Amino acid sequence: MTLEKQFDRVMEEAYYLAGKQVDYWANYFIRSLRQKGGLVTAKRMLVPQRGGTAQAGFQRLVDAGRPDLAIEHRVLEERFRTLFTPSELAEAQRRVDALPKHAIRKPVPPEANHPETLAETRTYEEGAVRRVLVSVYERDPAARSACLRKHGVLCAVCEMNFEERYGEIGEGFIHVHHKKPLAACRGDYQLNPEKDLVPVCPNCHAMLHTSDPPLSVEELKAAMDKRATD
Ligand SMILES: [Zn+2]
Ligand SMILES: [Zn+2]
Repeated sequence: MTLEKQFDRVMEEAYYLAGKQVDYWANYFIRSLRQKGGLVTAKRMLVPQRGGTAQAGFQRLVDAGRPDLAIEHRVLEERFRTLFTPSELAEAQRRVDALPKHAIRKPVPPEANHPETLAETRTYEEGAVRRVLVSVYERDPAARSACLRKHGVLCAVCEMNFEERYGEIGEGFIHVHHKKPLAACRGDYQLNPEKDLVPVCPNCHAMLHTSDPPLSVEELKAAMDKRATD
């Protein structure tokens, strides 16, 4: 297989990975891949531009806590570097280097994992504002009821229903999880309770927060499916 064909394949894999893991199905991207191939698509995305679709896609992955899925990382792989010009490589590197530290996913140890009590007073070198906002969104009663009106009270990961499980006392009980932690730190962010919040049981909620930024609902479901078939 030629290097270019290998790159095509890696680009297509990147599309499906982002779709499956963070529910980002980049239509423009797959259309371009099929019409023009991976290399032309990547090169176009590496043209420096302000607020273009390439950056929007990159931002989408950053917001999902998965900048590692961005094609910039594939471009920078040692084996593919010869396919690109020095300025294309420099642009990819610039974008990767521009990521704030809090955008890069790191594990949260069990003793620090308290999704329901993300402390407002806790201070972080970076991301303090983000922490505060996330917990505010997850606790906001109006946002919560808008989310539950749309999605119901079943856990979006394991489908647990508290009333079914515990009877009357469980009626209406569920956590809501905010899916877009990093978007929250941008000044222009407007919460969309139907899209940005998701109902989850406390167990699944804690499992989503085993990473910071958190896992996506799709990733946690995939991990559970994998566990079930192991
Ligand atoms: Zn659950
Ligand atoms: Zn959460």
